[in-house]
This record gives sequence, C-alpha cells and structure tokens, in this order.
Amino acid sequence: MQTTDIAIIGAGLAGLTCAHLLHAQGLDVTVIEAADRIGGRIRSLRDTDGKALADLGPTWVWPPHQPVVARWLDRLDLATFAQANEGDAVIEGYHPAPVRAPLPGQDGMVRIQGGPDAMVQAMAAALPGAALHLNRRITRIDSAIDGLILTDAKGKQISAGRVVLATPLRIAAADIAMPDAPAALLQAMRATPTWMAGQAKAVMLYDRPFWRDMYLSGRIASRIGPLTEVHDHSSARGQAALFGFIGLPPAARDPALLKAAIRAQLARCLGPEAGQPRDITIQDWARDPLICTPADHNGAHPDLPPAILRQPHLDGRLHLGVSETSTRSPGLIEGALDAGQTTAEAILSRH
Ligand SMILES: Cc1cc2nc3c(=O)[nH]c(=O)nc-3n(C[C@H](O)[C@H](O)[C@H](O)COP(=O)(O)OP(=O)(O)OC[C@H]3O[C@@H](n4cnc5c(N)ncnc54)[C@H](O)[C@@H]3O)c2cc1C
Repeated sequence: MQTTDIAIIGAGLAGLTCAHLLHAQGLDVTVIEAADRIGGRIRSLRDTDGKALADLGPTWVWPPHQPVVARWLDRLDLATFAQANEGDAVIEGYHPAPVRAPLPGQDGMVRIQGGPDAMVQAMAAALPGAALHLNRRITRIDSAIDGLILTDAKGKQISAGRVVLATPLRIAAADIAMPDAPAALLQAMRATPTWMAGQAKAVMLYDRPFWRDMYLSGRIASRIGPLTEVHDHSSARGQAALFGFIGLPPAARDPALLKAAIRAQLARCLGPEAGQPRDITIQDWARDPLICTPADHNGAHPDLPPAILRQPHLDGRLHLGVSETSTRSPGLIEGALDAGQTTAEAILSRH
C-alpha cells in the first residue's frame, strides 16, 4: 500500500495551496484528484497550442479587499489587469427594446493575466510530479491505528498520517464513505452549498472587440436572457471575447438551442456582428459530477461555515479545506486560498 504523510483529496485551488505550503516545509504530500485535470472550478478555455483564451469558471478577484489574494498574486508573481468597462452597458427587458445605459458596480474588480488558472498552474508547478495523482477518485476514508486509509474507485489504498478533504463538501458527503465521521459533520457538509456549482457560463470569441468602436462596454444586463449578464472578456494578450452567465435552470439548458438563442440575444443588444462569434463555448458546471449535486441547482450562497467544518476530526487526522470552509469570503477564490493556507497552518502546528 502507498503511504504518505499528508494526503490531499482534490486538486482545486484550496487543495493545491495547502499542498504547495506543506511541500515548501518539507512534508511528504500526495494530492489525489478524481478529474483528468487540476483546477476544479477553475478552468481555462485553451487554443490548440494550450494557450489560455478565456475563463470557464471564475474570472474576478478584488485585491484591494482581498488580502489573501493580493499576497498570493505577489508571491506567485502574477499580474492583473482591470475588468474592461469603458462605455455604455445595454439593458434589456426593461423597455420595449434594448437600451444603452451607464451601469456602475465594477470598481476594484480585476482579472489575472492567464486567468485564475495561472494561479493553479503556478501552485502545481512547485510540487514534484509524483505528488500529483489525476484520474483517481477517492470513495472511502477509514480510521487505522496510526492514520487514515483512503480507498479509490479501483479499490487501491493509500495510508496517510493526515488527510485534507479539499473537495466540495456536498460532493464528499455524497460520494466518499466515511463510516467513522460524526453524523453532525456529515449533516453540516450536506447543508453547505457549493458556490456557483449550479451555474453555466458561455464564452464567445471574436476577431476584434468591435463593441468598443460604438462606445459600448460589452456589458449587458438582461431580464430576457438566455444570458442574464454579459461582460467584456477580452484577454490581456488581445483575444477579443465576451462571456455571460446563463439564466436558465440546469434542466432547461440544451447547448444547441442555447447557442442559437445566445447569438440572437447578442445581435439584439450589441448589433449583428455580436451574433456571429467565431466560437461559443458553454461550460455547464451543473453537469460536473465532481463539483455539483442536485441540491446546488438553486444557486444558494454558503454562509460563514460553522465550527464543526473548521475543526479537525477522526482524532485530529481529517481536515476540511475547501473554499466553503473559509471564514474569509467562503465560496470565492479568496476563500479557497485562505482555506488551503489555514489548513496547512493547522497541520504544521501539530506536526
Ligand atoms: C462559473 C463560476 C464562476 C465563478 N466566479 C468567481 C469569481 O469571479 N471570483 C471568485 O472569487 N470566485 C468565483 N467562483 C468560485 C471559485 O471558482 C471557487 O471558490 C474556487 O475555485 C474553489 O476552489 P476549491 O479548491 O475550494 O474547490 P474546487 O475548485 O471545487 O476543487 C475541488 C476538487 O475536488 C475534486 N474532487 C471531487 N470529488 C473528488 C473525489 N472523490 N476524489 C478526488 N477528487 C475529488 C474536484 O474534481 C475538484 O478538482 C466561480 C465559480 C464558478 C463555477
């Protein structure tokens, strides 16, 4: 059986932050990820050369209000740029036809060059290759005399001194058998929504940001949809793009029908050129069984986590360290970094 000091389940930003910090302190860390890629809710749309074109998960950070984000951007030497917002927005569903309107509300909002994915890749690059296991879904955690035993979907086992559960809490409660975990812990996990897990995003690529020629910001606020809000998503390297959140419930999201409706909406609001994107990509997070449970379809925001989610369990060997366990911006990137960091500190203080 494979053995490790610390096993981290989930290679999202929180799990990788924790791994990065523990590895830097010389601990033997193994990160186990069920998907075939790292990042979890953070994902880039890439071109055929692997270059990041757009964000399919999160986009924005607010460094003036998010000290943990600001510190990590500095530590990983990642640059940011302002969310483009110059020009008028278009609002639709408030008048018989879409109208131009100034829309405030994006001050302090910035994007990371290369997207939040650049943060994930930088975290992982500092780990030895053998520390990262992809395509390995953990299905069970059992107590043993001197640690915990993890079992994966193929029945292979890993013995770990300590385990960090860095998966969405509802996913872990549904998919990972934890016979020794307190019932109250499992109940608190089930009660914690995974932020944005039920959302879907559409990214439209263009040859140029033509909306700027008309003094339009690319921003749309719509009561009609299918996109409820749209933003300029052009990259720092010059790839012109818009992105929008899809306002339909998961059961009503048929990608083929959606693409036609999105083209029509964009043409309505930003002119005929907007209805002819070079490419539309729809990322429906509600269809990702490693992120979203049916309970997340209503889009609820997590509350500040109760103490039971922030304490270690199973004789101090099981830590929960996903964004929703953070008391700083639970559910956000700031929360993921904080959760990874707080968990690493808790482990180091007892090591
Ligand atoms: C569409 C969208 C837009 C968002 N916008 C923003 C934004 O603009 N700004 C912001 O701050 N935040 C935003 N967020 C939230 C942000 O993405 C998350 O807070 C952050 O990425 C969470 O990281 P995490 O590591 O805590 O969890 P996750 O990213 O959920 O990582 C959990 C990992 O666990 C893995 N896993 C699950 N089950 C198992 C198992 N059994 N075995 C092994 N591995 C498993 C998953 O595959 C995943 O890789 C957005 C999220 C989405 C989806």
